[in-house]
Amino acid sequence: MDEAGKPVLEQTTDGVLLFYCPGCQQLHGVWVDSPNPKTGAKWTWNGDFFKPTFSPSILVNGVNGSHFRCHSFIRNGVIEYCSDSEHRMAGKSISLAGDPINQL
Ligand SMILES: [Zn+2]
Repeated sequence: MDEAGKPVLEQTTDGVLLFYCPGCQQLHGVWVDSPNPKTGAKWTWNGDFFKPTFSPSILVNGVNGSHFRCHSFIRNGVIEYCSDSEHRMAGKSISLAGDPINQL
């Protein structure tokens, strides 16, 4: 098995990086080229599609229009969920490589 064979990020035409969040079971967007027009948030990225690191932490509120919080750090291809996340993955770390973004 070639674990480096699949990128865990997908880049949109406007420079947003998408990753599949196992906690929310949906894609989240990370703005690295220009700020998110709604929130002004912008992240630094190590440029790696296989083992990405983003800074600062990624906070998603209101998934699917509900009051919901998903808070995580992504470092070296591993998503580390903060304990204030409101899903079953809170407090856990999981490799993004296990999520087949190419098959979505
Ligand atoms: Zn999430």
